Amino acid sequence: MDGLAEAPDLFDAEHRALLAARAAHAAGPADAHAALGELLAAYERLLRETRRLVRRSDRAELEMTRLNQRLQDLAGELQYRATHDPLTGVLNRAAIIERVNQLFGRGGLSLIVLDIDHFKRVNDSFGHPVGDRVILGVVACLQQVVLPPALIGRVGGEEFTVLLPHDDAAAAEAVAQLARRAIEAHAFGLPDGSRVTASFGVSCLPCGASFDEAYGQADEALYLAKRGGRNRVAHASGDLHAQTG
Ligand code: GH3
Ligand code: MG
Ligand code: MG
Repeated sequence: MDGLAEAPDLFDAEHRALLAARAAHAAGPADAHAALGELLAAYERLLRETRRLVRRSDRAELEMTRLNQRLQDLAGELQYRATHDPLTGVLNRAAIIERVNQLFGRGGLSLIVLDIDHFKRVNDSFGHPVGDRVILGVVACLQQVVLPPALIGRVGGEEFTVLLPHDDAAAAEAVAQLARRAIEAHAFGLPDGSRVTASFGVSCLPCGASFDEAYGQADEALYLAKRGGRNRVAHASGDLHAQTG
């Protein structure tokens, strides 16, 4: 015994009716009437059974399509969560690093790093939820001035990047100044009516560079902008631009 029971033939009755009809047909008209009755009954049962199977298979196909769609939705959601910051919806640090390194494989690019000025004061004075609203306001300002294909990312608590797919220093500076002015002018609605500003560091590097180099240079420039009095844009070359630039 191999343990495999023979599966019952679903259409055994029809098969037998067919054999009987064949034998009756060969034997002559006397037996044909009874055989025809048997054949009719078998044929009707066959139709019922086939309809039932087709309905079941349609239902299974529908369910499979639904499950497939759900799987695709979940995969998309997982991909979104892995690459986006949950508070602001912009790209997260890992996604920015990946994108920068990818783009450096094709050409030069500019990286703007910005950090909100005196942000600890906002948290300390008005609480963390108000701080979070300021972060959302800063991202809204960036979204007004940063147009595709440029990308916005959150690389730290209150530190953001703008990634521009070219190494044109003047154009990168123009975007940084637009963002700086947008933040400076934005009504954040802080309880004491104070304004929010941010400082900017910009680096522009040619094809073949890496995120670490671009970020390192932009971060040094950001440090210069902070030291220079904040609410300003500084270049990795060391140029510092006044807040009214
Ligand atoms: P500076 O002008 O030199 O940048 O001063 P700063 O006060 O902004 O100093 P720093 O950049 O070191 O402050 C970072 C603060 O940001 C500390 C941390 O509590 C706060 N922070 C980081 N992530 C979040 C966040 O998701 N929400 C809120 N509300 N605060 C955050
Ligand atoms: Mg900071
Ligand atoms: Mg700060």
